[in-house]
Amino acid sequence: MSVTDAICAGISQATQQEFVLERQAPVGGGSINTAMVVTGTCGRQFFVKRNASDKLEMFSAEAEGLADLAEARAIRIPEAVCVGEAAGESFIVMEYIPFAPGNAGSASDFGRQLAQLHRYSADKFGWHRDNTIGTTPQPNAQSRDWVAFLREQRLGFQLELAHGKGVGAGLLKKGRHLLAGLDFYFETYTPAVSILHGDLWSGNYAFDSDSAPIIFDPAVYFGDRESDLAMTELFGGFQPAFYAAYERAWPLDPGYARRKKLYQLYHILNHFNLFGGGYAGQAESMLDELLACLP
Ligand code: ADP
Repeated sequence: MSVTDAICAGISQATQQEFVLERQAPVGGGSINTAMVVTGTCGRQFFVKRNASDKLEMFSAEAEGLADLAEARAIRIPEAVCVGEAAGESFIVMEYIPFAPGNAGSASDFGRQLAQLHRYSADKFGWHRDNTIGTTPQPNAQSRDWVAFLREQRLGFQLELAHGKGVGAGLLKKGRHLLAGLDFYFETYTPAVSILHGDLWSGNYAFDSDSAPIIFDPAVYFGDRESDLAMTELFGGFQPAFYAAYERAWPLDPGYARRKKLYQLYHILNHFNLFGGGYAGQAESMLDELLACLP
């Protein structure tokens, strides 16, 4: 069976309505997968991402992540329709949402709704399954100890991956030093357990035709909400109205300013592991700043 036939069969089965493909069109903007919009009879449209068949687990974790984010009923999330594989490829199908520019209130709606999303909690940090951040594995073994989780499953895990990819001995040493001193950053702060988008940069949100915010392409787990906020600030930042509305809905701890770099380091290490190059230098200067704060 061709992958196109498998996609149509998957949609037909999931929606209990036969999907006959009329046309498909590529969608740009993604960083990892081949994305397209498929259109069937009666104008039914779905958004599809495709990759090699070894990415099936990645797509099934994405579908579960979208479903868990939707459970919070805080912010619009594309509904996952199905995942599958055929002819050496894997795919995920989800609700197609035409994007629009948003209006004067969209950024503050987004901030308020993200704070509401973060109110959705669980017993433990982590998630019921591992997933990926980009294509990098992201371990999520559940724990009540946030600092241990951050040390072992976030920063330490990425640091060891970077070690395997030949990062310099200086960076490794500084990284391990930081991990040993991590408790310092949490002496007066105990994070709530919040569902996180996990990869919240400007390429992973949009507004729908009603100007309502949408988030997609997540790396979901339960963690410290500061981590999502830190990611939004990593590559230029979101609009001031977004942050003002978030703060009004659920103020951040003053220590966020110090911990922000800690959370951003995770993503920079991941960028090194995905793309290599100058991200090692950026990670090392972040480590220098973080280590300078330690007593
Ligand atoms: P990748 O996993 O390759 O990074 P994304 O999930 O970011 O891909 O999707 C690629 C692009 O497709 C996004 O930048 C966005 O413009 C668009 N997109 C993502 N999800 C949807 C959706 N449900 N409906 C419409 N367009 C979408």
